[in-house]
Amino acid sequence: MRNLLFKNIFRAPLTETPPEGADEHLAELAAGIDRAARRRLGRSLSIRAVDAGSCNGCELEIHALNNAYYDLDRFGIRFVASPRHADVLLVTGPVTKNMQEALRRTYDATPNPKWVVAVGDCARDGGCFAGSYAVAGGVADVVPVDLHIGGCPPNPTALLQGLLALLEVTTATTAINS
Ligand code: SF4
Repeated sequence: MRNLLFKNIFRAPLTETPPEGADEHLAELAAGIDRAARRRLGRSLSIRAVDAGSCNGCELEIHALNNAYYDLDRFGIRFVASPRHADVLLVTGPVTKNMQEALRRTYDATPNPKWVVAVGDCARDGGCFAGSYAVAGGVADVVPVDLHIGGCPPNPTALLQGLLALLEVTTATTAINS
């Protein structure tokens, strides 16, 4: 027991060191999003994540934006619990028939100006779940989409790049592929 205690006190941490320069790049992206949001909205950005039927892979990447490594909160970019407080709906997955109405209501409850970002290959057209009896289609089949971020799943950097492009481009549907 004593040996184990000493071993745990003196051994090196098991976590990996982050890649060189990655933090600066992420910080630059997130700060760019915050600046663009303040220009467009006069305040920082609020995001509501909606899982419309994903396998949870895209959610894991979205959740990573809030972890200690990415820590989006430090740039004022927040995930909110209600669509009534959101500027952006980040929608993942194919839209299942069970979630179709909920997604529509969430969209209607989000105040203008609002943007919808479809996240992941499934959000484009149902992806590998397309054609299932339970799937209504991609996000654009249910609510208007302003940006699609491709990938299965897209990584947090691709999500940040997409959000930045969204805020900087004023019109039209944009597509980002990771
Ligand atoms: S895009 Fe990939 S990770 Fe995202 S919900 Fe579809 S299968 Fe899952």
